[in-house]
Amino acid sequence: MTFSYRYVCVRCAEPQDWGMICYLCPLCGHNLRIERVERDSDNVPLAAADIVASFCGTGMWRYASLLPVSSRWSSRLAVGDTPLLALGADDGVHLWVKDDSRNPSGSLKDRATELVLAAARWLGCTRVVAASTGNAGASLACIAASQQLPATVVVPRHTPYAKLAQIRAYGAQVREIDGTYDEAFDVAVAMADAPDVYCRNTGFNPFTREGKKTCAFEIAETLGWDVPDWVVVPTGDGNILSGIATGFLDLHTLGITARVPRLLAAQARSSHSIAHDWLVSGASGPLPSSPTLVTPDTVADSLAVARPRDHLAALQALRMTQGECVVVTDAQIMASSQILSQRYGLWFEPSAAAGHAALNDSIARGRIAPGARVVLLGTGSGLKDPHACAHVACDTAEIATDLGVFAPSICPGDTIDVPMRGRP
Ligand SMILES: *Cc1c(COP(=O)(O)O)cnc(C)c1O
Ligand SMILES: [Zn+2]
Repeated sequence: MTFSYRYVCVRCAEPQDWGMICYLCPLCGHNLRIERVERDSDNVPLAAADIVASFCGTGMWRYASLLPVSSRWSSRLAVGDTPLLALGADDGVHLWVKDDSRNPSGSLKDRATELVLAAARWLGCTRVVAASTGNAGASLACIAASQQLPATVVVPRHTPYAKLAQIRAYGAQVREIDGTYDEAFDVAVAMADAPDVYCRNTGFNPFTREGKKTCAFEIAETLGWDVPDWVVVPTGDGNILSGIATGFLDLHTLGITARVPRLLAAQARSSHSIAHDWLVSGASGPLPSSPTLVTPDTVADSLAVARPRDHLAALQALRMTQGECVVVTDAQIMASSQILSQRYGLWFEPSAAAGHAALNDSIARGRIAPGARVVLLGTGSGLKDPHACAHVACDTAEIATDLGVFAPSICPGDTIDVPMRGRP
């Protein structure tokens, strides 16, 4: 079973030829999406059962028949196949967490990078570049290493140390600029002017969405080709949001699932561009052609974007899934981080915890009904940004200066060596 593909502008719908590097619409400058064209001589639509039967193997390439790049270009890493953890109904809803922190570099970004780098090789590129607040860069460095492609990552000021260390460990070249993510973005785009360089920038490269949609495929397949009522998506540039929507809409269009889940986008209060524009344009008004600029200042560094790069596709994703967009404060995010870690044993980075905070907020406000079936995306590991949680540890840990506390567990007659350093 093969499909053919083409690029289509998300705004003006102008198609572009397939088989060459293409990032933006030459007519209006907006992002492109990848459209599947059914290649069937009799025009008979493919049966859902045949498509499902074509899924084979493990990881995200299991869905190769619905991906626009052949699996022959895959890396040697195992991306995808992350667990969907059933967490019960403590919060009043039936909650699952899709733990995408278990990808090779520790975040959901690997799904996008895996597909982008496969596309890079297919398109004949020999070097790759991306701007990143951390995770996309770590992901690029990781998968590029496996693909033996030299990688350059352009990072802004204040990139968390652990993410920088990860990028360096995988051997990528780091270009740290004294500026914001938005400035890093433009530097990476300029670097990709060379014909052999492929740019992975989120919301610029049309393949990222196609990689991320495999997360939706896995959720639906794990639930027996049923879908939950809601999927909660931490949202910065809006590319996970549009990717997850693409996946669920694909399955529905192909007749594999009966419906599409509603998407709940979670943004940080200071990084709320999509939330703002969703409120203004709502479910039906004309969508704004450029995003509202904001000044992010949040503990959730992966959500900190001044100008969401997949803005229009994200708003379309909310519209097509009857979604909602919620903003949460840093205090709510850190409270959720503690709940996820201490109630469930799931330590995610603050950006992922923002999804849980948005879920709690939506339950409290009655936006999500009691008993709803909800999947929360665990987009990145807590080890990515341990600094963000440092104050939590300080608040709750007590230094045991009084050894008497432990006395009952010492048997009579036992002697213990007490280190005297620091004691009077
Ligand atoms: C990138 C990222 C997000 C946000 O994804 P966008 O596509 O920018 O909306 C959320 N959580 C984590 C851990 C990420 O790395
Ligand atoms: Zn266009």
